[in-house]
Amino acid sequence: MIRVLVSGAAGRMGQEVLRAVHKTEGMELVGAVDLIKEDVDIGTLIGIGEIGIPLKNDLEEVIATVKPDVIVDFTNPDVVFNNVKLALKYGVRPVVGTTGMGRKELTEIEGLCQSAGVGCIVAPNFAIGALLMIKFATEAAKYLPHVEIIELHHDQKIDAPSGTAIKTAESIVQTRGDFRQGLATEIEKIPGARGGEFEGGIRIHSVRLPGYVAHQEVIFGGVGQTLTIRHDSISRESFMPGVVLAVQKVMYLDRFVYGLENILFE
Ligand code: NAD
Repeated sequence: MIRVLVSGAAGRMGQEVLRAVHKTEGMELVGAVDLIKEDVDIGTLIGIGEIGIPLKNDLEEVIATVKPDVIVDFTNPDVVFNNVKLALKYGVRPVVGTTGMGRKELTEIEGLCQSAGVGCIVAPNFAIGALLMIKFATEAAKYLPHVEIIELHHDQKIDAPSGTAIKTAESIVQTRGDFRQGLATEIEKIPGARGGEFEGGIRIHSVRLPGYVAHQEVIFGGVGQTLTIRHDSISRESFMPGVVLAVQKVMYLDRFVYGLENILFE
């Protein structure tokens, strides 16, 4: 049995993770942490009736008490780094879906995993379709270097651009190298109209509207043609097979992995 603690358990993704872990054989929900609704039974929270696990708000206390094997974190960019460090301090393996950590934080986590010999997976996107989108886009960029990214999310998302867009851009730049998109003399009449410029010259445009979950288009332009690679997560369930897989895989890791593709496509 893999003993799982969920951090951010009352959030949109956290509740979905509670349901997924609860119904997966070989996994046991042992704790749940969130800042809201303290002491509510998490079974009640997700509509399956009481299961005897209360929502708590002190992560360190819960880790020390329930001694989980894995912590799944879907919180927010301000707290995730500390949560991961705390987990590693107690030898608990983090599976992190929270986006917004920068390269500096990721490098520090990698170092901590190395010195502790504890596995950790940080994945900006757990949906297999999104990982394939990144893989196909990276391949296409070898032949079509003109590319821009449009990501579309629900309007409650804190960070922009999305972690998936950044991961896509990083992967394309590794294959394609630097390339400036558009005229060097172009004029932005409204600041930001051309999107954010990621390193390597890739433009990322972020749309925030109610009704969306998580969507992305990678658009390539060529002579007389365009190629659009698009992925849509139309429900948060789309991320759950990836989360469950990561929880299983992290048990056998003794290092840091950034991106589920490094496990899925290896
Ligand atoms: P949400 O706002 O619905 O949930 C976040 C929850 O974290 C809230 O309930 C909040 O109270 C809780 N929280 C805040 N600080 C906390 C702390 N210190 N300790 C414990 N809980 C705390 O957000 P969401 O839509 O569930 O998204 C959460 C994160 O997951 C975001 O960063 C989002 O970008 C990311 N995300 C990742 C994927 C992926 O596949 N990797 C998919 C969807 C969303």
